[in-house]
Amino acid sequence: MLRTTTRVRRRPGSPDLVASPIDGDWTALGACRDADPDEFFVQGAAQNRVKTRCFGCAVRTECLADALDNRVEFGVWGGMTERERRALLRRRPDVLSWRQLLLDARAAHLASAG
Ligand code: SF4
Repeated sequence: MLRTTTRVRRRPGSPDLVASPIDGDWTALGACRDADPDEFFVQGAAQNRVKTRCFGCAVRTECLADALDNRVEFGVWGGMTERERRALLRRRPDVLSWRQLLLDARAAHLASAG
């Protein structure tokens, strides 16, 4: 599946320099890299089915952060539907960098897990 972020316009000042354990193009590591892109742009209950494909994805954090930071309006990204992302963005208008927030949360989780 080719779901590169090149079709996503980055907002001015969009953070992209936050350290990630994934170097380079994270999209090449996505669990959906060989899937049909249309599969991730379905509606209704089909979204809940397709987002389960993200749950074991090695770059789920990077994918979700990219979608949130760039306000991607359509499709399932990082295990969240567009509706779920919109709700999250409304709840947390204070977040300037989802990438920073999610990577920090992942690092804290891994540190606490020992
Ligand atoms: S989190 Fe989901 S949409 Fe994002 S790269 Fe992984 S499988 Fe693809």
